Amino acid sequence: MDRRHFIALGGLGLGAGCARKERQAGPAAAEGVEARSYARVVQHSPAGYPVVHDRMTFVEQFKYEHWEAGRDWKDDCQLWSDFSYRWGQITLPIQRRPMRVLDGLYLLGPEDYHQCIYLWDTGKGLLLIDPSYERFRPMIETQIRQLGFHPGQVRWVLLTHMHGDHIESAGAYAERGSAVFIHRDDAGAVRGGKAMAAARIAKPVERPEVFGDGDRLDFGGVEMTVIQTPGHTPGSSCFALDWMTNRVLISGDVVLHFGRHAWMGADYCDWDQYLESLWKLYRYPGAENWEVLLPGHGTLDLDGARDSLYKVIQVVSYIIRLRRAGSEIDWADPYELFWRQKMGEKLDLEPLETAT
Ligand SMILES: [Zn+2]
Repeated sequence: MDRRHFIALGGLGLGAGCARKERQAGPAAAEGVEARSYARVVQHSPAGYPVVHDRMTFVEQFKYEHWEAGRDWKDDCQLWSDFSYRWGQITLPIQRRPMRVLDGLYLLGPEDYHQCIYLWDTGKGLLLIDPSYERFRPMIETQIRQLGFHPGQVRWVLLTHMHGDHIESAGAYAERGSAVFIHRDDAGAVRGGKAMAAARIAKPVERPEVFGDGDRLDFGGVEMTVIQTPGHTPGSSCFALDWMTNRVLISGDVVLHFGRHAWMGADYCDWDQYLESLWKLYRYPGAENWEVLLPGHGTLDLDGARDSLYKVIQVVSYIIRLRRAGSEIDWADPYELFWRQKMGEKLDLEPLETAT
C-alpha cells in the first residue's frame, strides 16, 4: 500500500446533491412505514444525474474524480480501508436497506452487497423483483416485515432472467402461492430443468407464468411492457413502465449504471446479440424519456437512465472491437475506462452501429 496516496475522506460527498430534497408525489405506501424505513441517499454521478450509490460504485466515482493521471486504478487499498471504517461508523452518505426508492418501491437485500432486490407495493399485493439467493431469504423476509408488510403478501415474483443470483429463492415464494414470472426462453431454469451454467434455483417452480417480447404485464395495476433483450441470457428482459410521475426501466443485468455491462462469461452469452439488444432499447419508443433505471446490481439512476444505456453501448462496442482484433477481453470497468479517457488516453469508445 502506498501511503503517499492516502486520501482523507473528510469532505467526501460526491457531487452537490447530498442534501437534495425529494420531489416525489403521491401518498406514502403505508401508515408509519416512512419512520421505519431508511430514506434514500441521493448523490450526483459525473454525468450530473441523481443516483443512489452502492458502496462499490461510490468508491469508483471517488476514484474517477480524484485519481491523478498515471495512477494505477487498482491502487485503492487505503481508500477502501478508510472507507470501510467510516461505513462501520455510519458516517458515509450511502444507502442502508431496506430503502425507499420511490413511493411504494423499496430496495431490499444486504447492505454491503451489490445485489438489487426490489419490493413494489402495488396497493393490491406485493411484487418482488429478483428475490436472489436462498441464503438472503430470511433477511429479505425480515425487511418485508420491517416495512410493515408480510411475506405472505407477495403475490407476484418477477424474474429479469434465469441466473441464480436473481432466481434462487423464487421457489419458496411459489410454494406460498406467489405467481412467478419469467421470459419463456429462460423458464427452463426455474422449472429446475437441466441447469445451464450460473442458472440455479433452490426449489423448482413447476408452473411459472411465462411471457414474451412486447407482452404487457399487470401487477395489481402496475403495468409494464416486456422488452426482450437477449445476449446475457436468451430470455433476459427489461420492463418499461410509468409509476406516478416517473418513467422507469427495470433492466436486470442488461443495463447498469454509468456503462456497467452484463457478465458475459458463459457459452450461451452472445456479444453481438447483446449489442443488438442495447440498440433495441436505445431506440425503443419513448426511451428518450426514461428517467429511473432499476438494475439488478449496483447503483440506481434516478434520472438519465438513457445516458447509462448509451455508456453501456460505448463500453460494449469497445470490448467487441478488441475481441474482433483477437483479444479475449470480456469485462471492462466503465468508471476506469471513462477515467482513462478523461485523463487523455485515446480509447475508441465510439458506439458500433451494428453488431456485425
Ligand atoms: Zn445475470
